[in-house]
Amino acid sequence: MQFYLERKNIFTALFFSFTYVFLGYLSINYVTMPSGIAIAWLPNSMLLAFFLIKDKKEWKYFIPFFLLAEVVADYGVFTTIEALQFGVVNVLETSIAAFIIKKFSKNNEQNFTNTKYFLAFFLVGLNIMPMIGAIFGALIYYTQIGSDASFIEFWRIWYFGDAVGILLLTPIMVIFKENYKSLKSYEFDFQNISIVGFSIYLAIMLFSFSDSNLLPPTTPLIFILLLLWVVYKQGILPALILAFFISLISIYYTSDLIGPFSIFGAKETTIYLQEFIALLFIITLFFGVLHKELVYSKQELEELNNTLEMKIQQKTQSLVQANKKLNHLASKDSLTNIFNRRMINEYLFQEISKSKRHKNDTSLIMIDIDHFKEVNDHYGHQVGDKVIVKSVELISSSIRASDIFGRWGGEEFIILLPQTDLKSAFVLAQNLRQKVQDHDFEQVGKKTISVGVTQLNADDDVLSFVRRSDDALYKAKKSGRNKVVSI
Ligand code: GH3
Ligand code: MG
Ligand code: MG
Repeated sequence: MQFYLERKNIFTALFFSFTYVFLGYLSINYVTMPSGIAIAWLPNSMLLAFFLIKDKKEWKYFIPFFLLAEVVADYGVFTTIEALQFGVVNVLETSIAAFIIKKFSKNNEQNFTNTKYFLAFFLVGLNIMPMIGAIFGALIYYTQIGSDASFIEFWRIWYFGDAVGILLLTPIMVIFKENYKSLKSYEFDFQNISIVGFSIYLAIMLFSFSDSNLLPPTTPLIFILLLLWVVYKQGILPALILAFFISLISIYYTSDLIGPFSIFGAKETTIYLQEFIALLFIITLFFGVLHKELVYSKQELEELNNTLEMKIQQKTQSLVQANKKLNHLASKDSLTNIFNRRMINEYLFQEISKSKRHKNDTSLIMIDIDHFKEVNDHYGHQVGDKVIVKSVELISSSIRASDIFGRWGGEEFIILLPQTDLKSAFVLAQNLRQKVQDHDFEQVGKKTISVGVTQLNADDDVLSFVRRSDDALYKAKKSGRNKVVSI
């Protein structure tokens, strides 16, 4: 009941009802052969479009309006009871069709965008439901109104009229409702305008002449080619609108009994015209839907590709990070976070060849903590570790960023000094020794270090360079510890 209070919905219902009446009026007065047979019954096209667009839950509120519209449209032609029966048949026919199409199409939100939807529309909306509706329509005619025509003839007129009417307007209405924004970006360029202009011109020429000798194209099927081109170049909606105008022109002239279809008897002319319109729309629609489906699947593929690329990038990024971490782990000593022996060896190798190439001075300092065993023995291994870490901190804060500092063994350290001669290295070593000596280690108190210093010779390799610094250290130990000895 809430529904009836909403002005917007009443407006919509009235709008559709007026359109319904108007389309009925058009069908009877302008889309009809002189024999009285409607070439297309248009009101049902609007009903089907309405049911396809609107949510199922809202249908029931609008149906009374449609029944009323049918009574108004039929006023003076049929009794209210007859009109109501026609109304019920029309509403049932189109709503059941829409229900089934929605159920079988791939998605409910986007109409006429996939071939499954088209097939459901073709089978159910265009054929099965109009066929069934036509049985009831013909029954009402045959049993209550009466005419010279046979039951089968009534049935066929209803069925064909409905199908053609639906083709003429339903896809346009539905696609327009969902894509009218795309029309704003329609390009009125020379090619588009001339193709549309040429099609309209050709339609008028072709359908307004009876003498087929006058014009080169004599078959109306030529328009299929033009429409396929328009679908391909401009999209489904412009093509359907063009098909609609070509159909209007064909109806206009054929109902005056001129044009290529008017060489037959009245019944045949109607059927040929209906088949022509049906073909025009079915092919345009199918090609358009196929085209849309292809475009969508291409887009989907592109999106998939993008997400894949993004995932690969993320993975690569985390791999790079992991690699960095791994490199760090492999090059650093875990207790002191300075370079480990492997890394020091690598640097030694690099720096020695660099220094020889550039003829630079390079020096090496080797440090060993004095009487370290005592620390372990008295205070335990963990306190010993703390002394090692603290000593590293003291040394680190006194050397340059370009100096390469690493842990050579248990409590033995190496400092590789690029571009440093023996004299400067000795001064630095003295500073370091003093710094450690001055420091009060927690729990342990005073500790000292012995230091060996040496400078790279022209004929040194890693082994001889390190051995000489080790010898210097040994001498420092031998001469009483807490000493710096250079060789
Ligand atoms: P010296 O003055 O001759 O160097 O005497 P020292 O006691 O320091 O003798 P040395 O350098 O030969 O002994 C090193 C000791 O350091 C042996 C080992 O128990 C200990 N050590 C080696 N690595 C670690 C470590 O990572 N943590 C701890 N707490 N102790 C270590
Ligand atoms: Mg020691
Ligand atoms: Mg040692």
